[in-house]
Amino acid sequence: DKRLLEVKGLKVHFKTDEGIVKAVDGVSYHIDKGETLAVVGESGSGKSVSALAMMRLIPMPPGMIAGGEIHFRGKDGEVKELLSLPEHEMRRIRGNDIAMIFQEPMTSLNPVYTVGDQIAEAIVLHQGKSKKEALELAADMLDLVGIPEPHKRLKNYPHQMSGGMRQRVMIAMALSCNPSLLIADEPTTALDVTIQAQILELMKKLQEEIGMSIMFITHDLGVVAEMADRVVVMYAGRAVEEADVVNTYKDPLHPYTMGLLNSVPRVDESAVNQQRLEAIPGNVPNPLFLPPGCAFHPRCKYAVPGVCDQEIPPLEDAGNGHMVRCVRWREIREEAHA
Ligand code: SF4
Ligand code: MG
Repeated sequence: DKRLLEVKGLKVHFKTDEGIVKAVDGVSYHIDKGETLAVVGESGSGKSVSALAMMRLIPMPPGMIAGGEIHFRGKDGEVKELLSLPEHEMRRIRGNDIAMIFQEPMTSLNPVYTVGDQIAEAIVLHQGKSKKEALELAADMLDLVGIPEPHKRLKNYPHQMSGGMRQRVMIAMALSCNPSLLIADEPTTALDVTIQAQILELMKKLQEEIGMSIMFITHDLGVVAEMADRVVVMYAGRAVEEADVVNTYKDPLHPYTMGLLNSVPRVDESAVNQQRLEAIPGNVPNPLFLPPGCAFHPRCKYAVPGVCDQEIPPLEDAGNGHMVRCVRWREIREEAHA
């Protein structure tokens, strides 16, 4: 079976003094073996929270799983429901099956240990190797992620490395347990454009070599085209569109997806023709007071008063698994192809 992960109707809510924040409110997606799924949305859309829920790293309280299931196929071939798994089994999944990298490696790297010690520690912990073997493997990992002179670099402390180097170290650490799923949460956002491109290139190459699946979380649809097979666009805790990467760019059906696409700079156009970036008007809504109906309606130029502000639009199949949550997707498609 090619299905690695299946998230069904996931709801993650947080209790606050002012009320319940429905950070993720009924989200479903799946990831097949070797596939890259991009989860795209502005900050606060729930994309990171859904990933943390998969890792069972939501602090509870104030967080709670208000519904849903997460099915994951372990390396042993068995499908497990992660939300109900005993903690000791979950710890094994976190170490061996699913790894995660974040935007700022400095927060995950310990400043008082060398990078060699930190990668080796992960290898000792998860693979039961000796320290000496682990350091040898750590050097191999640094080599794999394109860090020159790996044996020398093992002795570096995190602050002795550039941001791009540190992110490579994080990737090396994540891959040292040979995961079947890598969750990459805005892994390149803090890096400059050139380094960002190198890290994305590296992740793609490693994926081809290792065959792992990637869940790529980003606010930037611009970096997704090269990386992803499929794209889920999230807004205010819900999936509003899901499509393969080609249709996400060629046939976007949700006004929010269209807005995200319009704010991506076009590198293929000459400076003369380059359109001014059209940002989406307005702000992400306060999660405590989500607009009624379609949560995007206050920012949507297609919104129909009395319709869009009444009921949450259903997620509909626009053909070939292209899913969209907008009452006007048919007109939008017709208009785009007219
Ligand atoms: Fe815009 Fe209405 Fe579609 Fe929501 S349902 S995206 S408000 S047209
Ligand atoms: Mg985030």
